[in-house]
Amino acid sequence: MARLALVFFAAAFAARADWQAGAVAVSITPTEPIWLAGYASRTKPHEVVRQNIYAKALALRDTSSGATAVVITLDLVSIRRAQAEPIAAEIQKRHGIPRDRILFNASHTHSAPILGDAGSYLYHFGDQPEKYLAPIARYGEFARARILEAVDQSVKRLEPVTLSFGQSLAGFAVNRRRVTNRNWPGPVDHDVPVLAVRNAAGAVRAILFGYACHNTVMGDETVHGDYAGYAQAALEQRHPSAVALFVQGAGADQNPLPRRKVEHLERYGATLADAVDEVLAAKPRAVPGPLKTAIEFPVLNFQPPPTRAQLEKQTASTNESERRHAQRLLATLAKEGKIAGTVLYPVQAWNFGAFRLLALAGELVADYSVRFKNTYGHDALWVAGYSNDVFGYIPSLRVLREGGYEGGGAYQLFSGFPGPLAADVEDRIVSAVNRVMEKVK
Ligand SMILES: [Zn+2]
Repeated sequence: MARLALVFFAAAFAARADWQAGAVAVSITPTEPIWLAGYASRTKPHEVVRQNIYAKALALRDTSSGATAVVITLDLVSIRRAQAEPIAAEIQKRHGIPRDRILFNASHTHSAPILGDAGSYLYHFGDQPEKYLAPIARYGEFARARILEAVDQSVKRLEPVTLSFGQSLAGFAVNRRRVTNRNWPGPVDHDVPVLAVRNAAGAVRAILFGYACHNTVMGDETVHGDYAGYAQAALEQRHPSAVALFVQGAGADQNPLPRRKVEHLERYGATLADAVDEVLAAKPRAVPGPLKTAIEFPVLNFQPPPTRAQLEKQTASTNESERRHAQRLLATLAKEGKIAGTVLYPVQAWNFGAFRLLALAGELVADYSVRFKNTYGHDALWVAGYSNDVFGYIPSLRVLREGGYEGGGAYQLFSGFPGPLAADVEDRIVSAVNRVMEKVK
């Protein structure tokens, strides 16, 4: 009887396997010395490649509707809207995939090249900026072509698959705001969500997994994917038929601690890969689909910008970064007559049936993950940050009020934005999330 039940279960499971998928990894390792993104303290381009970095694409076709979606993961600090939207338009042209079914996520590894705008690093480039800007421009073209190639190949490789979802935990992310402020609360999101893709023969073909923590183990001039790169490499070594794709979560206020040693890279990479393997070894929770998707681009407001007089005064600051921020805003004022006080904020939701993936832009703090999991369920919600546009920190109202680097300080030091986000930031994001979640219900 038990055996009969198992046969029926397997038949039902196979009947629900209404998916096709294709996954591919394409190297985006730089081929010439180039400035790496993420740390303001670097003083020279990269010297050594410790590990190849990748653009990866996972194409998913829901065979009941015939609609294709694609997740693009990048071993990069960021991708801005200015790069992502033209790529999305080209994907739509080539494959007919609409914008709401295209998801970009940057791992935020601080050991990969600057992609696009080099504005925050310009002051390092001295009186020969072209020497450093030319490789960055070439890299932008190269990365764009490679990302499109990854998507093309992933669509070409579509094959019948089953999807399953599960979650594990890993504990090396530390709320970094508590390092200097022991009296501040320290929310973390230690969940390790995993979407496993298996073909008809049962071979694992793709592993999409997430974690919420800065990829800042190392701070030298070497190229690699940081702990996420090591986790992806470990998983691909353990599962040679699979492409492993990392999705950064709400890790804006999280650091891997302790850090700065190669052994930490290896250890956290292995820890995360072990957590993913726990899910792969467990009884799979089937993902029946169909996939429902939605994206919105609501507006976020910044606090009113400083006046010209305030900026002129700030150019005499003893803090070099404050001085440069004032100079940058004054240059914008001179060129454009005003400083932009808003930014568009991509909010995307994918409902897979068994779980929902919420992909939010910017450097998202853990409060958002905790809040949305409390609302939509810890078992069946995957919260990604660093998606579709990574332009700066996204504090919760609590973090905004506490202040500090993630609260708004980073905008005043290393950005072209006027200063901290306005106090309605959390309300605006929550409203947009509720709307997209309603659309994919
Ligand atoms: Zn960051």
